[in-house]
Amino acid sequence: MSEGSVRDVRLLSTGECVRLEFAGTRIRSVLPIHRPVDPFTLPWAAPGLFDLQVNGYAGIWFSSTELTISQVQQVLHSYARQGLTGCLPTLITNSAEALEHGLTVLRQARAACDLCRRMIVGIHVEGPWISSLDGPRGAHPLAHVRPCTLAEYHCWQRASGGLVRLITVAPECPGVLSVLPQIAADGVCVAIGHSSASAQQIHEAAAKGARLSTHLGNGCAGMVPRHDNVFWPQLADDLLTASVIADGWHLPTDLLNCIYRCKSASRVVLTSDVSGFGGCPPGRYTTAAVDVEVLDDGRIVVAGQRQFLAGSGASTIDCLQQFHRSTGVPLQQTWDLASRNPRQLLGLPCPEIAEGAVASLTLFHATTADNVLTLQPVAAIIQGQTIVADQGD
Ligand SMILES: [Zn+2]
Repeated sequence: MSEGSVRDVRLLSTGECVRLEFAGTRIRSVLPIHRPVDPFTLPWAAPGLFDLQVNGYAGIWFSSTELTISQVQQVLHSYARQGLTGCLPTLITNSAEALEHGLTVLRQARAACDLCRRMIVGIHVEGPWISSLDGPRGAHPLAHVRPCTLAEYHCWQRASGGLVRLITVAPECPGVLSVLPQIAADGVCVAIGHSSASAQQIHEAAAKGARLSTHLGNGCAGMVPRHDNVFWPQLADDLLTASVIADGWHLPTDLLNCIYRCKSASRVVLTSDVSGFGGCPPGRYTTAAVDVEVLDDGRIVVAGQRQFLAGSGASTIDCLQQFHRSTGVPLQQTWDLASRNPRQLLGLPCPEIAEGAVASLTLFHATTADNVLTLQPVAAIIQGQTIVADQGD
């Protein structure tokens, strides 16, 4: 951002109208506005949105074996226009060669493109060390589910230049529980997901360093025993934060409320898990990695059935809005679930709107009609670089 550029905003944290002055990548000053101003005309400003699970957009799929640097740039621009300031591009279960391709291209994109370097904080590898069962496996291709090895983890880190920061595994997958402590000791966050593990395996994974439940309530069997299932131990284990896809389709409100109350406000993370087919018109889409349908109502499902969803068609701010609407958790607290909490989980600094802080903010308008709040992104300011949002959609 150019030296001395300014933005008048209303802070979500306090409601105060302030003038933000920027210098390079940082906020130079935060000064109260003394002249008369209509606060409703100013955009709200809040710490930048962050999503730890994003798969692509508008037909571009990070897991594609044909992924290119310019496609990564294109997707990240779309995310920024939706108000996102940082993310973990996510690669799902695939062949070793395909994963290596994705990891390499994401590393190269970061080296080639300034916006990619600012936004790609790391990479999430979801699978291939997951359940081979229909249901828990979700849309992940069975042919590429395999046992966990430290050698494969080292290959990923070599290809990505050490960018792998989050790995989703099933504790019951062979090799996971023995390798997990070494991965966790590397500073990589290990998550439990796409699993039908026993309570004992889940608690053992947490004791060995797992810290997240990936999209809790999804990526599991459609029918489970009432007591002995994957939910209770993950809800009860205080070592585990839970990520949830609150797009209005993946989880019912009662379950969202239960997860929020079990985990408390500091251990829930909102993710869009946006599909590579997010933003695509209804139809059937087949790639080497996945075979899904985009339905008329916006859901994205594993092709040929309607029960198992395959990521969402929603943006992170859509999910935040939906979580707030359905649970009634105040917007200020809900905002933390998609900005502060995911960064904290990964050991990243949380952006502040304060003098001298790195300028990482999301600006948005909030309007209420019939008691329903609607959020419209205005801009993402990403380490001082402003990306103006899509308007009117
Ligand atoms: Zn998943």
